[in-house]
Amino acid sequence: MENFQTHKMTVSVDKHSSHLEQFKDFYKELDDQGKTIENLPHEKIEEYQLKAINATLEHVWNENEYYRSRLEEAGFTEPKIDHLEQLATVPMLKKDVIRGDKEKILCVEPKEIGQVHLTSGTSGKPIYTSYTLADQYVYDLLPKYLELFKETEEDVAAIALPYEFALPGLGFQRLFQFAFGTAVLSLGKGGYMAPVDKSLELMKEYQATVLTTTPSYASLLAEESEKYGIEIGKDIKLKKIWLTGEGCSSTFRQRLEKWWGCEVSFFYGSTECGVIGVECSKHQGYHVMEGHIKLEIIDPDSGEVLPYGQTGEIVVTTLLREGMPMVRYRSGDLGKLQKSQCDCGIALDVLELRGRMEHMLRIGDEDYSPFMIEHFLMELPDVGLWYHLKLNKGELTIEAEKFRTDLSDKKLAKKIRKHMKDRIGIDCNVVIRDDIPRTFGKATRVFN
Ligand SMILES: [Zn+2]
Repeated sequence: MENFQTHKMTVSVDKHSSHLEQFKDFYKELDDQGKTIENLPHEKIEEYQLKAINATLEHVWNENEYYRSRLEEAGFTEPKIDHLEQLATVPMLKKDVIRGDKEKILCVEPKEIGQVHLTSGTSGKPIYTSYTLADQYVYDLLPKYLELFKETEEDVAAIALPYEFALPGLGFQRLFQFAFGTAVLSLGKGGYMAPVDKSLELMKEYQATVLTTTPSYASLLAEESEKYGIEIGKDIKLKKIWLTGEGCSSTFRQRLEKWWGCEVSFFYGSTECGVIGVECSKHQGYHVMEGHIKLEIIDPDSGEVLPYGQTGEIVVTTLLREGMPMVRYRSGDLGKLQKSQCDCGIALDVLELRGRMEHMLRIGDEDYSPFMIEHFLMELPDVGLWYHLKLNKGELTIEAEKFRTDLSDKKLAKKIRKHMKDRIGIDCNVVIRDDIPRTFGKATRVFN
């Protein structure tokens, strides 16, 4: 496979030495052999992960009191595991412990911090994540995924994600500029400098080929383009859209593919952990970015690690972090892990994401992922991309909008009710609206 990407711009941080330096050699060797971590045999990936986990454990043991005391309480006399299964004995990190606390798991001197990112903190105090300059510009860019990312210096990438506080905007900016050599249009998302019409205009003027944004904002941009007389497919011709920030179903993704006339793929990450998984062109789930993180699935009640194929909470250990490594961080997201049998040939494990634990909808005796309900709702082409799922005493009401249809409200509501009953056996109320609010922030679709 020819190496399309440039990867020409890794910054060197002078006189820097870190527990992560050793992995520069590992990745250089792969480069020299024309390989990436994506196509190594899985035993080799696991060998690397064990080494990286132990390097991280040693780093947090030496540099952070909290991590060290937790490890000691768990019976560790040295920061080391002998095989990957033993990671299950390392204490997990809960959000509550680090919420609102800047230093709890900080593993460098405060003066070493290059940048601080915050979670949006919709529920209480934010989580602070500190990156060193080397985290951002050196270690984070070491693992390459040339099969998953096809962007090159020929591309123009529009980034319509928040640049304030959280990681997404700046994270993608670095990835595109430094790894792929791509020109970037930093559209942002709803800041006062970033009205939708100007964003679309810029994409048109610079002939953007890639768009990175959230599912709801991708629909908002498409919708608004019609108002401003910018024709998608003619004035803006994208090759690819990366979706992140909010999850969505595969049918929602396909609706966007149709509207934008290009491939749309998911990118799963978080401000605390960075990149976690990326969809390949087969769209059979997320390939786990095993160069950056080790992913486990646990039973959220017992904390026990679950085998491949079982659904549970996603737990992430970052492998290449100096400033604030996350060790067995409980993400609050649900998912299921499988060994890769993907036609694309990539060896990285495959994650099926189910959404956030607190967003699960209890209907009757069953928990439903909102993505699953969305999946079936979006199968109906007369239903628009904006909707609400409202749960009241175990009863679901779907509020939906019409999309390019002649059906009356009544007929469409009936059609949705029948479809949901036939497809997943859910009895629901349906209200057709034409005023579901558009948002620049995270779209709120679930109310329970
Ligand atoms: Zn694949």
